[in-house]
Amino acid sequence: MTECAYAGWARIDNAALAHNARMLRQSAPAQEHMGIVKADAYGHGAVPVSRALIEAGYRMLGIAQIDEALTVRRALGAAADNTRIFSWIIPPAHEGALREAVRAGIELSASTVADILAIAAIGIPARIHLKVDTGMSRAGALIEDFPALVAAAVQARDRGVETVGIWSHLACADEVGGLAQRATDRQIEIFQRALEIAAEGGLGHVTRHLAATSGQLWHPSARYDLVRDGIGLYGLTPNPQHATTVELGLRPVMTVGAPLMLVKHLRAGTAVSYGGTWTAPHDTWIGLIPLGYGDGVPRLASNRARVSVYTEAGVIDAPIIGRVCMDQFVVKLGQGTSAPARIGDTAILFGDPSRADTRGCPTADEWAEACQTINYEIVTRIGPRVPRVYEG
Ligand SMILES: *Cc1c(COP(=O)(O)O)cnc(C)c1O
Repeated sequence: MTECAYAGWARIDNAALAHNARMLRQSAPAQEHMGIVKADAYGHGAVPVSRALIEAGYRMLGIAQIDEALTVRRALGAAADNTRIFSWIIPPAHEGALREAVRAGIELSASTVADILAIAAIGIPARIHLKVDTGMSRAGALIEDFPALVAAAVQARDRGVETVGIWSHLACADEVGGLAQRATDRQIEIFQRALEIAAEGGLGHVTRHLAATSGQLWHPSARYDLVRDGIGLYGLTPNPQHATTVELGLRPVMTVGAPLMLVKHLRAGTAVSYGGTWTAPHDTWIGLIPLGYGDGVPRLASNRARVSVYTEAGVIDAPIIGRVCMDQFVVKLGQGTSAPARIGDTAILFGDPSRADTRGCPTADEWAEACQTINYEIVTRIGPRVPRVYEG
């Protein structure tokens, strides 16, 4: 699969990415779309994903840390000349990085008057988005402090700081109805109030943005002028309890696989891996997979998740047995007198079960459930040492 010698890979399906981008843009056609590529594009590779999104028509990218934003800006070069990059985590007391970001034309979030003053002090034209905390209690100015933020933004105009956006983030948009719905409605109300404060303060026209994937899909009144496309781009649902990836018509972009490194026959009563947490109840064929928690395979998957092994004779549903180690883990291949799989057969940890070459494989959602987390974390954790293979 890969040309490098690393045993294990993450395939990134560019056709699936383009398909998901189309789906999201069709479902909120009146809005501008920002492609979110933080955390190395949720593990998919920030630079190649950014390139693919620009090709798919995205004019704006969002990335959390300004350091990541600068990396993407530099790597894209002229290809990104017409692409706006928005970034919302500024390391405190790092004027150098801030200056570099402003010089590179990166648009920055401001939550405090001090943020605005620091950006104005750089002395070159800058574009900012004022952030209001509407109930997430993460970044953003509390609504009672928002008038002061607006006043500072208006004053900073003379120093070349242009406020181009007002934004916030929803905390409970992945659920509909009940308490979560009330929380979202409340956030929209507070956002509305912030927009009024900005208008009263004389801020003029700005781009208003509140919704990520779940907000735009499930709370149309949160769409405003621009929506921020994250998990949906990567072909995963924001909440499988509410709507599955298949129901949303999305296609998982990342597939993680590895060749079987060893196949052997264990005698009944033999324990497997650290701590011997799994013991063969009868004679069993096992396979060794050369990926581990050092690659981002959660250790919580020990004795819980499964992989699909593609052999000449068909697909084996192979549960993980024993503990996941740093670089490898063991799966159960089945019983019988002859080996059910061969060294070099492909094991798929998770991917798109509807694709012909990974038919029936586990999904990131299944891994998330097994590991008590969310699909976001399953793909984002896949570490940099696993080679990405771009297809299409
Ligand atoms: C991660 C993130 C998004 C995208 O969220 P998804 O749920 O992945 O669509 C949007 N906005 C902000 C501020 C984020 O941190």
